[in-house]
Amino acid sequence: MSKQYRVGIMGVTGAVGTVMLRILEERHFPVAELKPLASARSVGKTVQYHGEDIPVQEMKPDSFKGLDIVLASAGASVSRQFVQNVKESGAVMIDNTSAFRMEADVPLVVPEVNPEDIFKHQGVIANPNCSTIIMLVAVNPLHRAARVKRILASTYQAVSGTGAKAIAELEQQTRQWAKGEKITHEVYPYPIAFNVLPHIDVFLENGYTKEEMKMMHETRKMLHDDSIMVSATAVRVPVFTSHSETIQVETEKKLTAAEAREILAKAPGVKVVDDPANKKYPLPLHTSGQDDVWVGRIREDVSHPRGLALWVVGDQLRKGAATNAVQIAEILINR
Ligand code: NAP
Repeated sequence: MSKQYRVGIMGVTGAVGTVMLRILEERHFPVAELKPLASARSVGKTVQYHGEDIPVQEMKPDSFKGLDIVLASAGASVSRQFVQNVKESGAVMIDNTSAFRMEADVPLVVPEVNPEDIFKHQGVIANPNCSTIIMLVAVNPLHRAARVKRILASTYQAVSGTGAKAIAELEQQTRQWAKGEKITHEVYPYPIAFNVLPHIDVFLENGYTKEEMKMMHETRKMLHDDSIMVSATAVRVPVFTSHSETIQVETEKKLTAAEAREILAKAPGVKVVDDPANKKYPLPLHTSGQDDVWVGRIREDVSHPRGLALWVVGDQLRKGAATNAVQIAEILINR
């Protein structure tokens, strides 16, 4: 019988943790024992795994003993709080949070982009930010073919990217609007229903938000190229799941739209949906629940001789978080 692994999920009751369970099931990850971990608030709850109800346990320093793999999605401060305990247990932590992404000894990995980096780990492997993952699955094949020098991106990010509370807030605001009631808000600084917020994470001194700068720093780390320039505007939109992005790339070598389409059609993890004449382009309603990053509206940028413009959409809970983490775990165990 092939080897099976003891797997812990930190933040199992959250938006990412819930999807993590489904991905482990769908991909038949060889789980010998599953340990669902969350805060004390979740004690008494159960999660379903392969039809079995498993009680959620409160995360404590000794929760990781005997585990082989810990999939972490309970927030950056929680990952920081428990990382030493995970390391001491001998498990490898695959972390969805921003806690360690830029640390030199922590590989930052998208399996379609830089799988070889996984094996440089010292106990922790980081998943990039969801917007960076979706962008790079589409941009990396073009980079390999023609070297991308500069990326301009605008994101249209779903509320589930903020977590379970934001999903509930959009649902509640939609009900309030339908009943003609006053729209209340707690998670975002303004109502998100029927609105668009050009504000994700905190603003930095240079006028960008932290979310926007992550897209540059993480791209450079994964492509091992500190010269690549990325300017992003990250925007929250009233969509439940799947982030959309407009991406313009400037390449060193010219690529025509037809060449780009051909490269992307063969690229791992990419699905080209590009038939605007027949109203076929990627949509968040269609990508949700899917692992591929969908790319459409592929065209030559009229403002630059070596520019391409793309419309890219992906389920950020799956490829932008849980699926990416499980793919990393699969590569680790298959070595
Ligand atoms: P979420 O829905 O708010 O879930 C948070 C989870 O963490 C819950 O299971 C919660 O447990 C647990 N938790 C919170 N504080 C804890 C504590 N002190 N001790 C133990 N468990 C604690 O958030 P999410 O959207 O899943 O995101 C989780 C992490 O993944 C974040 O760092 C986020 O940046 C990252 N991420 C999210 C996405 C996305 O699309 N949502 C994508 C990529 C990365 P309780 O239910 O018991 O409170």
